[in-house]
Amino acid sequence: MFGNIAILGVGLIGGSLARALRRAGACRRIMGYGRHETELKKAVSLGVIDDYALDPAHAVARADIVVLAVPLGAMKPLMAAIGSALPPHAILTDVGSAKSSVIADATAAFGLMPERFVPAHPIAGTEQSGVDASFAELFEGRRVILTPLEHTDRAAVEKIRAMWRVAGAVVEEMDALHHDRMLAATSHLPHVVAYSVVNAALQLDPTSAVLRYAGTSFRDVTRVASSDPVMWRDIWLANKDAVLDSVQAFQTQLQALQHAIEQDDGTAIVAILSRAKAARDRLAHEA
Ligand code: NAP
Repeated sequence: MFGNIAILGVGLIGGSLARALRRAGACRRIMGYGRHETELKKAVSLGVIDDYALDPAHAVARADIVVLAVPLGAMKPLMAAIGSALPPHAILTDVGSAKSSVIADATAAFGLMPERFVPAHPIAGTEQSGVDASFAELFEGRRVILTPLEHTDRAAVEKIRAMWRVAGAVVEEMDALHHDRMLAATSHLPHVVAYSVVNAALQLDPTSAVLRYAGTSFRDVTRVASSDPVMWRDIWLANKDAVLDSVQAFQTQLQALQHAIEQDDGTAIVAILSRAKAARDRLAHEA
């Protein structure tokens, strides 16, 4: 259905997509690329990919679809490395968590945003990394957002939409800037908060003995602080303006709560929490 696929970055997301497409019998051959041969050999032995190359240009040479699934900071050099090796008919796509930066990187690496490059972001993941953590069901029932530009080839967009549907996802399209603002609030900010809650506990007790008493609430709020720091550094820097706006909004909310507690203003506390609870309850019912 999708021919030869090259997955550049056979980690959690790239590996899970490869598994989903293979499970559906939707591709001929999957070629992987990464920097560490041991990981790529493991991906072959797990049946995630058929073969691998340590040179990204070699990995894409016969591809019908190329999926960039590396951290955002690695996208531009990787695009530059494959540019001259891409078959003319190949469709390029990515899975990066911020979209404007990927479009800017592609424009810089290729000299213009290629018509057959379909920027994409699967809103699915875990706090784990690497091919060991990948699983075919990761995208089932989850949203994938495509952010094509006006001149993006519609046939390429429909092909990538079909690829994600085969992986079980619900596919939407939107403007890249809108995507980046929404995901800053709903994904990038929660990660800022999770890492900061852990560090706040360590600030209060540098011996970290306090973590022995971490209950369900601490574990729920901080689960994603086990995510890869390099990946999150790249996401925050790639989506800097929107992330900083979200952090500012969070600080405003924190200060309002801090002020209400300082003032023993129980009415204000209940009003603030009730507003959040109503929205969070709706989310739970929608899930
Ligand atoms: P991951 O499990 O760490 O996989 C990243 C892969 O990229 C690995 O195979 C790694 O292999 C390779 N890689 C890392 N740095 C590289 C570099 N500098 N040059 C070339 N290859 C490199 O990460 P992931 O969670 O799959 O994330 C991949 C992408 O998906 C990121 O852009 C992220 O924003 C996006 N995303 C993540 C999630 C999530 O929840 N995790 C959700 C949606 C989207 P080697 O180290 O062997 O090179």
